[in-house]
Amino acid sequence: MSNCLLCHSHHLRYVVRYRCTHRPSRQLFRKRAILRCLRCGMMQIDPVPTAEQVRDYYSKPYRQGGFNARASLEHFPVDNLWYLSRGRALRQMAVRHVPAFAERPLRILEIGSGFGHVLWAFKEANESCQLFACEPDQRCRPFLRKCNATVFQSFVDPQESLDELMVSEGPFDLAVLSHVLEHPVSPVAFLSLMASLLGEDGHMLIEVPHTPLDETRWTPNHAPHVSFFVKESLRACLEHAGGTVDFIDTCGSILSSCRSLWYRCFVRAARRVVPHSLRSAVGGKYDSMNVSPDILTMSDVLPLPEFGMYGGDTRAFLRAVVRF
Ligand SMILES: [Zn+2]
Repeated sequence: MSNCLLCHSHHLRYVVRYRCTHRPSRQLFRKRAILRCLRCGMMQIDPVPTAEQVRDYYSKPYRQGGFNARASLEHFPVDNLWYLSRGRALRQMAVRHVPAFAERPLRILEIGSGFGHVLWAFKEANESCQLFACEPDQRCRPFLRKCNATVFQSFVDPQESLDELMVSEGPFDLAVLSHVLEHPVSPVAFLSLMASLLGEDGHMLIEVPHTPLDETRWTPNHAPHVSFFVKESLRACLEHAGGTVDFIDTCGSILSSCRSLWYRCFVRAARRVVPHSLRSAVGGKYDSMNVSPDILTMSDVLPLPEFGMYGGDTRAFLRAVVRF
Protein backbone atom coordinates (compact mmCIF):
# COMPACT_ATOMS: atom_id res chain seq x y z
CA MET A 1 0.00 0.00 0.00
CA SER A 2 1.23 3.52 -0.86
CA ASN A 3 2.19 6.22 1.59
CA CYS A 4 0.26 9.50 1.58
CA LEU A 5 1.48 11.74 -1.25
CA LEU A 6 1.18 14.73 1.06
CA CYS A 7 2.19 13.86 4.63
CA HIS A 8 3.84 10.46 3.88
CA SER A 9 1.72 8.75 6.55
CA HIS A 10 1.08 5.04 5.93
CA HIS A 11 -2.30 5.18 7.71
CA LEU A 12 -4.46 5.13 4.59
CA ARG A 13 -7.97 3.69 4.45
CA TYR A 14 -9.78 2.19 1.45
CA VAL A 15 -12.58 4.45 0.10
CA VAL A 16 -13.77 2.94 -3.16
CA ARG A 17 -12.62 0.96 -6.18
CA TYR A 18 -10.96 3.24 -8.77
CA ARG A 19 -13.33 3.47 -11.73
CA CYS A 20 -12.04 3.98 -15.25
CA THR A 21 -14.61 4.16 -18.04
CA HIS A 22 -12.21 5.70 -20.58
CA ARG A 23 -11.10 2.74 -22.69
CA PRO A 24 -7.57 3.96 -23.68
CA SER A 25 -6.83 4.70 -20.01
CA ARG A 26 -7.72 1.25 -18.71
CA GLN A 27 -4.31 -0.26 -19.19
CA LEU A 28 -2.82 2.17 -16.69
CA PHE A 29 -5.73 2.82 -14.33
CA ARG A 30 -7.53 -0.51 -13.91
CA LYS A 31 -7.39 -2.61 -10.74
CA ARG A 32 -6.65 0.33 -8.49
CA ALA A 33 -8.36 1.80 -5.45
CA ILE A 34 -8.84 5.24 -3.93
CA LEU A 35 -7.45 5.60 -0.43
CA ARG A 36 -7.88 8.38 2.14
CA CYS A 37 -5.14 9.43 4.52
CA LEU A 38 -6.34 9.22 8.12
CA ARG A 39 -3.81 11.85 9.16
CA CYS A 40 -4.31 14.66 6.59
CA GLY A 41 -7.45 13.70 4.62
CA MET A 42 -5.72 13.55 1.22
CA MET A 43 -7.29 11.04 -1.19
CA GLN A 44 -5.20 9.31 -3.81
CA ILE A 45 -5.00 6.42 -6.23
CA ASP A 46 -3.44 3.15 -5.04
CA PRO A 47 -1.06 1.90 -6.21
CA VAL A 48 0.35 5.21 -7.49
CA PRO A 49 1.59 4.80 -11.10
CA THR A 50 5.26 5.46 -11.80
CA ALA A 51 6.39 8.76 -13.34
CA GLU A 52 7.41 6.83 -16.51
CA GLN A 53 3.96 5.25 -16.84
CA VAL A 54 2.29 8.63 -16.49
CA ARG A 55 4.57 10.26 -19.06
CA ASP A 56 3.86 7.49 -21.59
CA TYR A 57 0.16 7.81 -20.87
CA TYR A 58 0.02 11.56 -21.59
CA SER A 59 2.01 11.16 -24.78
CA LYS A 60 -0.83 9.14 -26.34
CA PRO A 61 -3.78 7.44 -24.60
CA TYR A 62 -4.91 10.58 -22.69
CA ARG A 63 -6.04 12.36 -25.84
CA GLN A 64 -7.65 9.30 -27.42
CA GLY A 65 -11.42 9.06 -27.39
CA GLY A 66 -12.87 11.21 -24.68
CA PHE A 67 -10.58 13.88 -23.31
CA ASN A 68 -10.74 16.08 -26.41
CA ALA A 69 -12.97 19.03 -25.79
CA ARG A 70 -14.53 20.38 -28.94
CA ALA A 71 -12.46 23.20 -30.41
CA SER A 72 -12.53 25.08 -33.69
CA LEU A 73 -9.59 27.17 -34.82
CA GLU A 74 -11.84 29.27 -37.02
CA HIS A 75 -14.02 30.37 -34.10
CA PHE A 76 -11.39 30.44 -31.34
CA PRO A 77 -11.75 31.68 -28.59
CA VAL A 78 -15.56 31.56 -28.73
CA ASP A 79 -15.42 27.96 -29.98
CA ASN A 80 -15.63 26.73 -26.39
CA LEU A 81 -17.44 28.91 -23.89
CA TRP A 82 -16.76 26.47 -21.08
CA TYR A 83 -13.01 27.04 -21.37
CA LEU A 84 -13.33 30.74 -22.16
CA SER A 85 -15.54 31.36 -19.12
CA ARG A 86 -13.05 29.52 -16.94
CA GLY A 87 -10.19 31.60 -18.35
CA ARG A 88 -11.97 34.87 -17.65
CA ALA A 89 -12.96 33.76 -14.14
CA LEU A 90 -9.36 32.73 -13.35
CA ARG A 91 -8.06 36.07 -14.58
CA GLN A 92 -10.62 37.95 -12.49
CA MET A 93 -9.63 35.96 -9.41
CA ALA A 94 -5.92 36.70 -9.98
CA VAL A 95 -6.50 40.44 -10.33
CA ARG A 96 -8.83 40.56 -7.33
CA HIS A 97 -6.19 39.03 -5.04
CA VAL A 98 -3.08 40.51 -6.64
CA PRO A 99 -4.19 44.01 -7.73
CA ALA A 100 -0.72 44.77 -9.14
CA PHE A 101 -1.47 42.22 -11.89
CA ALA A 102 -4.07 44.58 -13.38
CA GLU A 103 -1.55 47.39 -13.74
CA ARG A 104 1.31 45.82 -15.66
CA PRO A 105 1.84 43.37 -18.51
CA LEU A 106 2.63 39.93 -17.12
CA ARG A 107 4.85 37.09 -18.25
CA ILE A 108 2.52 34.11 -17.84
CA LEU A 109 3.39 30.41 -18.09
CA GLU A 110 0.54 27.92 -18.30
CA ILE A 111 1.24 24.23 -17.83
CA GLY A 112 -1.11 21.91 -19.74
CA SER A 113 -2.59 24.91 -21.53
CA GLY A 114 -4.68 22.85 -23.96
CA PHE A 115 -6.13 25.10 -26.62
CA GLY A 116 -5.16 28.29 -24.78
CA HIS A 117 -8.47 29.79 -23.63
CA VAL A 118 -7.09 30.73 -20.20
CA LEU A 119 -4.05 32.46 -21.70
CA TRP A 120 -6.28 34.21 -24.18
CA ALA A 121 -8.35 35.70 -21.32
CA PHE A 122 -5.20 37.40 -19.96
CA LYS A 123 -4.30 38.72 -23.40
CA GLU A 124 -7.86 40.01 -23.83
CA ALA A 125 -7.45 42.16 -20.71
CA ASN A 126 -3.92 43.35 -21.51
CA GLU A 127 -2.54 43.03 -25.02
CA SER A 128 1.04 43.44 -23.75
CA CYS A 129 1.02 40.25 -21.64
CA GLN A 130 3.64 37.72 -22.79
CA LEU A 131 2.24 34.21 -22.96
CA PHE A 132 4.10 30.91 -22.61
CA ALA A 133 2.41 27.53 -22.89
CA CYS A 134 3.63 24.06 -21.97
CA GLU A 135 1.48 21.68 -24.00
CA PRO A 136 2.60 18.35 -25.44
CA ASP A 137 -0.41 17.92 -27.75
CA GLN A 138 0.52 19.01 -31.29
CA ARG A 139 -3.09 19.76 -32.23
CA CYS A 140 -3.20 22.63 -29.74
CA ARG A 141 -0.32 24.46 -31.42
CA PRO A 142 -2.30 26.45 -34.02
CA PHE A 143 -4.66 27.67 -31.28
CA LEU A 144 -1.75 28.73 -29.08
CA ARG A 145 -0.14 30.48 -32.03
CA LYS A 146 -3.36 32.44 -32.46
CA CYS A 147 -2.76 33.74 -28.90
CA ASN A 148 0.85 34.61 -29.81
CA ALA A 149 2.04 32.20 -27.13
CA THR A 150 5.51 30.66 -27.10
CA VAL A 151 4.96 26.90 -26.88
CA PHE A 152 7.12 24.37 -25.01
CA GLN A 153 6.30 20.79 -25.86
CA SER A 154 8.09 19.13 -22.99
CA PHE A 155 6.30 17.07 -20.37
CA VAL A 156 7.00 18.46 -16.91
CA ASP A 157 8.36 15.63 -14.82
CA PRO A 158 9.64 16.47 -11.32
CA GLN A 159 12.21 13.68 -11.56
CA GLU A 160 13.89 15.20 -14.59
CA SER A 161 15.46 18.56 -15.22
CA LEU A 162 13.24 21.27 -16.70
CA ASP A 163 13.16 22.10 -20.38
CA GLU A 164 16.11 24.46 -20.98
CA LEU A 165 14.01 26.62 -23.26
CA MET A 166 11.43 27.10 -20.53
CA VAL A 167 14.10 28.01 -17.98
CA SER A 168 15.75 30.47 -20.36
CA GLU A 169 12.42 32.28 -20.96
CA GLY A 170 11.86 32.68 -17.20
CA PRO A 171 11.41 34.00 -14.64
CA PHE A 172 7.65 34.29 -14.95
CA ASP A 173 5.27 36.51 -12.96
CA LEU A 174 2.49 33.95 -12.95
CA ALA A 175 2.21 30.20 -13.45
CA VAL A 176 -1.26 28.86 -14.26
CA LEU A 177 -2.12 25.26 -13.35
CA SER A 178 -5.72 24.71 -14.36
CA HIS A 179 -6.76 21.07 -13.86
CA VAL A 180 -3.15 19.94 -13.72
CA LEU A 181 -2.24 19.31 -10.08
CA GLU A 182 -4.52 16.26 -9.76
CA HIS A 183 -2.43 14.45 -12.44
CA PRO A 184 1.25 14.27 -11.33
CA VAL A 185 2.43 11.40 -9.16
CA SER A 186 4.25 13.80 -6.80
CA PRO A 187 2.11 16.95 -6.56
CA VAL A 188 4.35 18.67 -3.98
CA ALA A 189 7.54 18.07 -6.02
CA PHE A 190 5.69 19.25 -9.12
CA LEU A 191 4.68 22.52 -7.41
CA SER A 192 8.22 23.10 -6.12
CA LEU A 193 9.56 22.68 -9.63
CA MET A 194 7.04 25.17 -11.01
CA ALA A 195 7.85 27.61 -8.20
CA SER A 196 11.52 27.55 -9.27
CA LEU A 197 10.45 29.20 -12.55
CA LEU A 198 8.79 32.17 -10.84
CA GLY A 199 10.40 35.55 -10.30
CA GLU A 200 10.35 37.68 -7.18
CA ASP A 201 6.77 37.99 -5.88
CA GLY A 202 5.73 35.31 -8.39
CA HIS A 203 2.29 33.74 -8.01
CA MET A 204 0.49 30.60 -9.05
CA LEU A 205 -3.11 30.31 -10.09
CA ILE A 206 -4.53 26.87 -9.36
CA GLU A 207 -7.79 25.15 -10.24
CA VAL A 208 -8.50 21.48 -9.51
CA PRO A 209 -11.63 19.33 -9.28
CA HIS A 210 -13.22 19.46 -5.83
CA THR A 211 -13.76 15.87 -4.71
CA PRO A 212 -15.21 15.49 -1.23
CA LEU A 213 -15.64 11.94 0.04
CA ASP A 214 -19.21 11.50 -1.29
CA GLU A 215 -18.26 12.82 -4.72
CA THR A 216 -15.37 10.37 -4.88
CA ARG A 217 -17.72 7.48 -4.03
CA TRP A 218 -20.38 8.48 -6.53
CA THR A 219 -18.45 9.73 -9.54
CA PRO A 220 -18.66 7.27 -12.47
CA ASN A 221 -15.09 7.85 -13.70
CA HIS A 222 -11.96 8.69 -11.70
CA ALA A 223 -9.40 8.45 -14.48
CA PRO A 224 -6.87 9.85 -15.03
CA HIS A 225 -6.48 11.54 -11.63
CA VAL A 226 -3.87 10.58 -9.06
CA SER A 227 -4.92 13.00 -6.30
CA PHE A 228 -8.41 14.02 -5.16
CA PHE A 229 -8.54 17.32 -3.32
CA VAL A 230 -10.73 19.09 -0.80
CA LYS A 231 -9.94 22.58 0.43
CA GLU A 232 -7.83 21.44 3.39
CA SER A 233 -5.68 18.99 1.43
CA LEU A 234 -5.12 21.45 -1.43
CA ARG A 235 -4.03 24.09 1.07
CA ALA A 236 -1.68 21.61 2.76
CA CYS A 237 -0.22 20.61 -0.62
CA LEU A 238 0.44 24.25 -1.58
CA GLU A 239 2.03 25.00 1.80
CA HIS A 240 4.17 21.85 1.74
CA ALA A 241 5.64 23.16 -1.52
CA GLY A 242 6.59 26.44 0.18
CA GLY A 243 3.65 28.56 -1.01
CA THR A 244 1.69 31.17 0.93
CA VAL A 245 -1.99 30.83 0.14
CA ASP A 246 -3.54 34.27 -0.52
CA PHE A 247 -6.91 32.83 -1.47
CA ILE A 248 -8.56 29.41 -1.62
CA ASP A 249 -12.22 28.45 -2.04
CA THR A 250 -14.64 26.17 -3.83
CA CYS A 251 -16.15 27.49 -7.05
CA GLY A 252 -18.21 26.62 -10.10
CA SER A 253 -21.44 24.68 -10.48
CA ILE A 254 -22.92 22.43 -7.81
CA LEU A 255 -21.55 18.86 -7.85
CA SER A 256 -23.93 16.45 -9.49
CA SER A 257 -23.52 13.79 -6.79
CA CYS A 258 -24.83 16.28 -4.25
CA ARG A 259 -28.13 16.42 -6.08
CA SER A 260 -30.77 13.80 -5.43
CA LEU A 261 -30.54 10.37 -7.02
CA TRP A 262 -33.96 10.95 -8.55
CA TYR A 263 -32.73 14.12 -10.29
CA ARG A 264 -29.63 12.36 -11.62
CA CYS A 265 -31.63 9.43 -13.01
CA PHE A 266 -34.11 11.83 -14.60
CA VAL A 267 -31.42 13.94 -16.29
CA ARG A 268 -29.59 10.88 -17.61
CA ALA A 269 -32.79 9.40 -19.01
CA ALA A 270 -33.75 12.73 -20.59
CA ARG A 271 -30.35 12.99 -22.26
CA ARG A 272 -30.85 9.60 -23.88
CA VAL A 273 -34.35 10.32 -25.11
CA VAL A 274 -34.29 13.99 -26.17
CA PRO A 275 -32.19 14.75 -29.25
CA HIS A 276 -29.26 17.16 -28.91
CA SER A 277 -30.78 19.67 -31.33
CA LEU A 278 -33.93 19.96 -29.23
CA ARG A 279 -31.95 20.28 -25.99
CA SER A 280 -29.93 23.12 -27.51
CA ALA A 281 -33.10 24.87 -28.61
CA VAL A 282 -34.67 24.55 -25.16
CA GLY A 283 -31.53 25.09 -23.11
CA GLY A 284 -30.25 28.10 -25.05
CA LYS A 285 -26.98 28.51 -26.86
CA TYR A 286 -24.78 26.73 -24.35
CA ASP A 287 -24.63 23.00 -23.84
CA SER A 288 -21.80 22.25 -21.46
CA MET A 289 -18.54 22.21 -23.43
CA ASN A 290 -20.08 22.35 -26.84
CA VAL A 291 -21.06 25.67 -28.28
CA SER A 292 -23.84 26.16 -30.75
CA PRO A 293 -22.49 27.08 -34.19
CA ASP A 294 -24.57 30.27 -34.20
CA ILE A 295 -22.13 31.85 -31.70
CA LEU A 296 -19.50 33.24 -33.97
CA THR A 297 -18.47 36.60 -32.56
CA MET A 298 -17.32 37.90 -29.20
CA SER A 299 -20.37 40.18 -29.02
CA ASP A 300 -22.55 37.04 -28.79
CA VAL A 301 -20.66 35.71 -25.81
CA LEU A 302 -22.07 35.87 -22.33
CA PRO A 303 -19.96 34.40 -19.55
CA LEU A 304 -21.27 31.18 -18.03
CA PRO A 305 -22.19 32.53 -14.59
CA GLU A 306 -21.29 29.44 -12.53
CA PHE A 307 -17.58 29.92 -13.21
CA GLY A 308 -17.56 33.11 -11.14
CA MET A 309 -19.43 31.64 -8.15
CA TYR A 310 -17.61 30.75 -4.95
CA GLY A 311 -18.20 29.15 -1.56
CA GLY A 312 -19.88 26.20 0.15
CA ASP A 313 -19.00 22.52 0.29
CA THR A 314 -20.74 21.35 -2.86
CA ARG A 315 -19.12 23.20 -5.76
CA ALA A 316 -17.31 21.32 -8.51
CA PHE A 317 -13.89 23.03 -8.40
CA LEU A 318 -11.32 24.48 -6.02
CA ARG A 319 -9.36 27.63 -6.87
CA ALA A 320 -6.34 29.15 -5.20
CA VAL A 321 -3.98 32.09 -5.57
CA VAL A 322 -0.58 31.24 -4.08
CA ARG A 323 2.53 33.34 -3.53
CA PHE A 324 5.98 31.76 -3.77
ZN1 LIG B 1 -1.61 12.40 4.56
